[in-house]
This record gives sequence, C-alpha cells and structure tokens, in this order.
Amino acid sequence: MDAAVPHVLLGTWPTPLEPAPRLARALGLADEDLWLKRDDLVGLAGGGNKVRKLEFTVGAALDDGADVLVTTGAAQSNHARLTAAAGARVGLDVVLVLAGSAGAASSGNLALDGLLGARVVWAGDADLEATALSVADDLRAQGRTPAVIPFGGSSAVGARGYARCAAELLEQAPDLVRVVTAVGSGGTMAGLVAVLGPARVLGVDCGAVTDPAAEVARLLTGLTGTPYDPAVLRIRRDQVGEGYGALTEPVLDALSTAARAEGVVLDPVYTGRALAGLTAAVADGDVVPGERTVLLHSGGLPGLFGHAAAVARAESLLE
Ligand SMILES: *Cc1c(COP(=O)(O)O)cnc(C)c1O
Repeated sequence: MDAAVPHVLLGTWPTPLEPAPRLARALGLADEDLWLKRDDLVGLAGGGNKVRKLEFTVGAALDDGADVLVTTGAAQSNHARLTAAAGARVGLDVVLVLAGSAGAASSGNLALDGLLGARVVWAGDADLEATALSVADDLRAQGRTPAVIPFGGSSAVGARGYARCAAELLEQAPDLVRVVTAVGSGGTMAGLVAVLGPARVLGVDCGAVTDPAAEVARLLTGLTGTPYDPAVLRIRRDQVGEGYGALTEPVLDALSTAARAEGVVLDPVYTGRALAGLTAAVADGDVVPGERTVLLHSGGLPGLFGHAAAVARAESLLE
C-alpha cells in the first residue's frame, strides 16, 4: 500500500478464509469449490465490511484534524454502528444521521449505537446527505471540526479497504475464480474489482441504490483514476424483491441453509441476498462446479436482530 495514504488500524487482519464443503454441496457444487471470506470476524463491535472502509475514511478524517465524525444510513445501518465504534476506538465524537424517526425501528444496530455513545439525528423523510451537511455546518458554527463520511463509507477513499481485501484474498487463494459479494452502496465491489478485475467479481444487488452499476463504476473511476464502463460489471439484480430491507423467501432459505450446513449466520439484508444470488447463479449455470468461488461474509449479524420480520420467521423454524 502507498505509505502516504492515511490509514488507521481498526480491525484484526487478515480475516480467515474458511472452506464451506457442506454449503457447497447444498448448492450443487463440489466440496472444495466454495470458501467463505470471514469479514464478519474483524474484531470491532460486531464486525463487518464497513471496518476496512473506515480504516481509510477515519484515517483521512484524523489526518484532516477532525474532532467529530458525521455519517448517514438507514435506522439499522451496519455502517452507522461501525462508525460509532470506530469513533469510540480513536477518540472522536460521532453523529449519526439516520433515515426515519425515533421509535420506528429498535434493537439490533440501534441498541449498539446507543452503547457506543453516538448522537442520533433523525432525518425523517429529508435527504440524508443534505441533512448531514447541515449537521456539519451546525457543528462548525459551534467551533467543531466535523468530517462527513459518505453513505455506507463508500467513496474512492473508503473503497481502498476492499482493494486491500482483494490483495489479501489473492495471497490466501491464488486460484480463486470469483468472489461473490452483496452490493449496497458499492464501495466493497468497487475495491474488489479494482484488484481482481470485473470478470472475477459477482455482485448481488440489495436494492440500496437505484443504479448500482453506475455507482460501482463511479467509485472505480475515482479509485483507479481512469473512466470505468458500468457495462463490464457483473451485478445480479434478481434478489432485490420488494426492495432494500424487505425479506424474501430465497433469502430466508439462504439464511437457514448456511446456518444448518456450516453453523454460519448470515443477515437478511446483505449476506443472505449474496448467498441467494450465488444459489441462483449455480442454478442457471453462471457459476459451475470445479472452480474456486469465495463468498464474502460481509457481516450484518446485529441487523438480523433489528429486523422484526426475519426474527419472527427464524423463530417459527423452532420445532
Ligand atoms: C453495507 C454492507 C454491504 C454492502 O457493502 P457496500 O460497500 O455498501 O456495497 C454488505 N454486507 C453488509 C453486512 C453490509 O453492512
């Protein structure tokens, strides 16, 4: 890595790459075809993919002399929770600008946001980024130095975290044929594609943004410094269902399949969709046996407990 790029250590690296032979078999692959990259196990406050991005965005904020972090997200945002944790870890205050209003969501990530000492500003129906900018203006008027971290931590700076993950993966599995990842704000896929190239990364859209390919291409352009064509990206959009946050039957199947086959718990918004997308890709021949596929476990477990419908369906599986 370029030593001049600001960075702060927030996690424990490298994360494990684990075989998943029973899950492989359940999908119709051979035992040795499927591996899990355990970015849920990064060591900071419930873990997840946002930690790698925050190492660069918070590093840049510290470099700029910030004394408070401001970021945005859904009420159950994993990124918001991990920004709160990162702030606590490096001694910065954190303000979270969340969609909706107080009381509309509970438990899960929100409970952790409280423990971690973040201040929450509810944006109601207002534009999240605009609200964050006005919160930052208010902080400046009070003599503070805010750093605004973009939605999902996805900027060209944040995406560097996943370029690093891709390099780590190539050391652990030089023969990898593809990495499957959930796509939310796009920074994770952008970082992976920057190092692995577009053919080796299969994204599964979770419905967080209207045009995920354009978003990933925009981030890749910023990260690599050359214009990137969205048409070369491989993104499945068949798992969005009723939209971001809405539970689907294939996702519910994916959650119980992973849990029962490997003792690995996925989340209903992101990683469950990634596995549902991989399952569909095997079924339609896009992913075939005899090749090493890595499924990125990007975290999200706290969000499971903040998703009332998913918790109810999970509990209904008890016999
Ligand atoms: C945010 C998130 C993603 C998606 O990552 P992006 O970089 O926003 O596309 C995937 N999995 C989990 C658990 C997340 O919280």
